[in-house]
This record gives sequence, structure tokens and C-alpha cells, in this order.
Amino acid sequence: MKYLTTIGLEVHVQLKTRSKMFCGCAVEYGAPNNTHTCPTCLGLPGALPVMNGHALELTTLTGLMLGCEVAPYCKFDRKNYFYPDMPKNYQISQYDLPICVGGAVPLHDLAYPKDAQKTIAHPDKTVGLVRIHLEEDVAKSFHYDTSTGIDFNRAGTPLMEIVTQPEIESPEEAFAFLTSLRQILLYGGVSDADMEKGQLRCDCNVSVRPEGQAEFGAKIEIKNMNSVSGVRKALAYEVTRQVAELAAGRPLQQETRRWDDPSGQTFLMRTKENAHDYRYFPDPDLMPVKTDGLLTAAQARLPELPAAKRARFVADYGVSPYDAAVLADDQDLSAYFETAAATAAKPKAVANWVLNDLLSAVSGAGKGIGDCPLPPAALVELVNLVDAGTISGKQGREVFAEMFSTGKPAAAIVKEKGMEQLSDAGALEALVDQVIAANPKPVADFKAGNPAPLNFLKGQVMKLSKGQANPVVTSEILQRKLAAG
Ligand code: ADP
Ligand code: MG
Ligand code: ZN
Repeated sequence: MKYLTTIGLEVHVQLKTRSKMFCGCAVEYGAPNNTHTCPTCLGLPGALPVMNGHALELTTLTGLMLGCEVAPYCKFDRKNYFYPDMPKNYQISQYDLPICVGGAVPLHDLAYPKDAQKTIAHPDKTVGLVRIHLEEDVAKSFHYDTSTGIDFNRAGTPLMEIVTQPEIESPEEAFAFLTSLRQILLYGGVSDADMEKGQLRCDCNVSVRPEGQAEFGAKIEIKNMNSVSGVRKALAYEVTRQVAELAAGRPLQQETRRWDDPSGQTFLMRTKENAHDYRYFPDPDLMPVKTDGLLTAAQARLPELPAAKRARFVADYGVSPYDAAVLADDQDLSAYFETAAATAAKPKAVANWVLNDLLSAVSGAGKGIGDCPLPPAALVELVNLVDAGTISGKQGREVFAEMFSTGKPAAAIVKEKGMEQLSDAGALEALVDQVIAANPKPVADFKAGNPAPLNFLKGQVMKLSKGQANPVVTSEILQRKLAAG
């Protein structure tokens, strides 16, 4: 029996705002515990919320980037439940009127796990979204042996929730979805989306059903995943577990589970019977929001999206789709490449240097492209020297390494090392004549139809020039002279 997998994700994204969602406290990752708090985000009686316009604008921008419909107005509701990290006993969220509805995330090839990029089931797939809404984050709990500590710095920070349609069909697609989404969020400057810092977290809903069955299987939710590879592992585990249950004749029920990374398993947290009823109602302290002004502001900030950038790199610079995807993967890298390509004689050559040499040098030095010691103009200078045949490609690599570590310009290093290739036709002709005159036997063999001596003769010219003869030009001259008689 074959089983089909269905996955839907609820992704929480911490927005990149200076202050919290409903108060003026700073949003700062890693600040000492409980140093960014006030009566509002501590949930003290009588404190009133004031909306953060920038958070609304960033959410609207996300909606535009993902092709959502931005609702004409949205409103905030209270989601009621008790938890020690939320002293108001309700979380401000959006229930029936979220900011954004619909939309989709396009999955691109490089966003899949490396080992799955050759076996993509649905190339160019897009995953539809149900909605995007805005809410406040809760505080963070720290559990000790006999007590629990709570840090309220995170309480009330703006959190965007993106809910997908149940359209994801494998753990690898879930991985690609999160990676593609994260890239778009970074392009828009909406969030730093660092999963290690908890800036991107997600709940994974997954079910399986026998092929041929129309309705989905029981939805099982895995709470609060905080790494993309963890999401893939947890989903793969869950799919296997659910299929085994069904195959053994044990029907599944809707439930919530948690992933335990060390043991590589999921564990039951609660079943449907214990599900919350949140008793949502409109927050009486917050007026509904008209979104027309937000749309205008967000439109002005709309960046070129990753897919458009990749297509433009292929069209404008003649790079392969794969290279374009690597270059556009990260905005610092694409900016570096474009700055260099703009002044280079051959932009494609620049792309090759960036992809083959620069990236590994930068990562080898433990740096990011943003703090690359080699400015784009310096790289272009080197690429142009190689292109013009002033130095060989091999010498170029040597110069590159030295430029990267010393910061000296390419031309200075070439001079210092006496690397300039001899490309002057007149000078090379004289050398070729000398070699032909000194080697009558190989010359005669070549003329008799044996091609082998050609390389030997070329080597003699190289030797005579102390390795500086341009090999391409030398070959041309040598062949022309031998053919001429
Ligand atoms: P709830 O009301 O319990 O939050 P929703 O219908 O809003 O459930 O769906 C939450 C998420 O679960 C969405 O991302 C949706 O795509 C996904 N989902 C819904 N049903 C299933 C299912 N049977 N299998 C897998 N994912 C599902
Ligand atoms: Mg839900
Ligand atoms: Zn506050």
C-alpha cells in the first residue's frame, strides 16, 4: 500500500522593528533578562497598547512580496489562555480579519536539501498560503531544577504568522519552503530570520493517507521547531511513524506532539480532547486598521525578488541558471557580483572568479561576503589582466591568493613577481624563429605529418622566454610559421 503525505506549516517570524508591537520597549536580541519591559508588555492592570506602525508595514510588505491580497482593513483580537509567560492571560493576535490573505511561496531548486536537489518531485512548485497575520510574542521561560525563570524582553515583540495551505508533499519540500521563504524575508528586510536565534520558528502539521483516499488523514502537529534541518528530520520521522501505525491497523487521531532532537523522535503532548478553546473576541483597546496607507508605504519598499534577480542575472550577464541562483542566494553576494560585473570587460568571467575562488577564500577566512577584504573593483582588475592575457589563469590564482591576504592591487603583484606574459607578436616571432632554427629534426618530423613535436617546440619557446610567453599567441605563431614552410 502506498501512502501520500500532506504537510501544512504555521511559520512565526520575528519582525525587524526597533520597538515592540504595542509599547515603546526596545527589541534587542541577547539583552540582559528583563531589561526591556514596561507596564504594557508586563501585562500590568490598566496598561494600554499602542500599535507599532512599522510592524504593520513590514507585514504588508511581506504580503506584497508573496502575492497576497492585502485586506482593506484588519483588526486585532484577544486569544484567551493562561500561561505563566503571558500575565495578561490573553495574547493579542488577529482572528477573522488578518492583514493578508492568500499568496504563495515559489520553491527554487537550490532551496532543497543538497542531497535532494537531483530528485525534486515538482520543479517550480509554489506552495499556497492561507493567510498572514500579526500578533505579539510571549515571554520566554527558562526551566531550572526546582523553579522557572521568565524573561519578558521577548514579551510583546512583533510576530508575524504565515500559514500555508496543506500543499507540501514531503519533508524535503517543507525544507525548501522554509529556505525559500527565509530568502524572501531577508530580501525584504522584514526579519533577520535567524532560526538559531528563534527569529523564525514553525509548527508542522503532517498527515498521511492511503493513495486513492480523497480526504486527508488525521492532522498531527509538531510544535515549535527551530531549525530547517530539524523540520525535515521531524517530518520524516513522523511520516514513517504514521504510515507504520496505519499499516498495523491502528487509526490515528488529531494530536499535538513535540520533537526531541537528541533521541530523534516525536512525543505526544496532547490530544484533540485537550485542545484549547481560545474564546477570541475583538480587542476593545485597539481600533481596526485601514491598510491603504500601509500599502503605499510597502509598495515603495518592494525589493527585486530572488526569482526576478536570478532571471536577470541569466539574461544580463550570460551566467547559467545554477550560477545565477548561487549569486542571488544572498543579497551581499549579489551586490558584490553586480558591482564588479558593472565595470568588467566580461561579466561572466567575474561570475566564475566569484563562484570558484572568492566564495571559498571568504569562507576559508571565516568571513562573510559583507566583510570580504577584496573590494569588487580590485577583483575586476585581476579578472581583466587574465582576460587580456597579461597573465595566465594559473598565475591569476596565485595573484588572487596574494591580493586576498595582503590587499595589494593585482598589477603591483604581477610586477613584483615578474609575471607579465610576453604577448607582443614581434618579440614572440623572434623567439619562435630561434627555436625553429635550432631544432631542425623535430621541425622536419612535424612537417612529415607527426603532430607530437609541436608541444616540444612550444615548450622550447616557453623555456627561452623564461615561462613568460603567452601560450595561446605562441601556439598561433608557431603553427603559422611551420605551415608556411
Ligand atoms: P487549526 O484550526 O487546528 O489551526 P487549520 O485548518 O487552521 O487548523 O490548519 C493549520 C495548518 O495545518 C495549516 O497550515 C494547514 O495547511 C495544515 N493542515 C490542515 N489540515 C491538515 C492535514 N490533514 N494534514 C496536514 N496538514 C494540515
Ligand atoms: Mg493553528
Ligand atoms: Zn514594553
